[in-house]
Amino acid sequence: MLTDYHVHLRPDDPGTPPERFFTPANAERYRTAAEEQGIAELGVAEHIHRFSAALDVWQHPFWREWALDDLDAYCGFVREETDLRLGIEADFVPGREDRMANLLEPREWDYVVGSVHFLRDRALDTEEHSVWGAGESADRVWRRYFETVAESARSGLYDIVAHPDLVKVWGDRARRPEGDLRRYYEPAVEAFAEAGIAVEVSTAGLRKPVEEIYPARAYLEMVLDAGCPLALSSDAHLPAQLGFRYEQALELLDELGVRELAVFERRERRLEPIG
Ligand SMILES: [Zn+2]
Ligand SMILES: [Zn+2]
Repeated sequence: MLTDYHVHLRPDDPGTPPERFFTPANAERYRTAAEEQGIAELGVAEHIHRFSAALDVWQHPFWREWALDDLDAYCGFVREETDLRLGIEADFVPGREDRMANLLEPREWDYVVGSVHFLRDRALDTEEHSVWGAGESADRVWRRYFETVAESARSGLYDIVAHPDLVKVWGDRARRPEGDLRRYYEPAVEAFAEAGIAVEVSTAGLRKPVEEIYPARAYLEMVLDAGCPLALSSDAHLPAQLGFRYEQALELLDELGVRELAVFERRERRLEPIG
């Protein structure tokens, strides 16, 4: 069984209000595109920062700009008007774990995807508010990134670690430390194993300047050695991106001897054969 769980029903652009994208017709377009790719297990995980309730967790200017929509309306729409799994992509904001728990716990997710998009208030994957350019070395940014990813796994807030080496997104040498990168992955993998969390294999990195799957092969090998289950996703923001270049991800998983993927329902996880 193939999955695509980390999926957005709309692009990250202005002019994408819920009334245009949270519709049965749009959900149907996603379902049809997934079926064409042989993906039976499909869920959505909208960005938490697009919901006004997220401002109870964090008041970053980027969030204040985007936090417009009603979180319960989104949950109600997915549950009542679609046959999709209900997820959310929730940032890890260090020090705000209790507030995030208060937001997540009352709602009936099938899974919660945990993402590190920021180091303190500096962004990893946008030019605006960027962590790069403040004079910090690649070594320091990478170390801080993987320590934060480790902390996110240990927080117990999440079922899946999203794009677990997002820090590599830009792909250029100035923003990538030299040599064997496994020294950065180590604390994160240790935390994943302790937390018993699933790790996302995401083809989204293939659409980004780095042109690599998240996580890097050496990192994925460490994740597998540690016994962590994998969740396969495309991070699609359009129906056409569902299952994006899955053939490449499946080839990698096959080479590494992965035969099962994590499947989620009401935050219970089981493993299903890839088939
Ligand atoms: Zn993300
Ligand atoms: Zn995403």
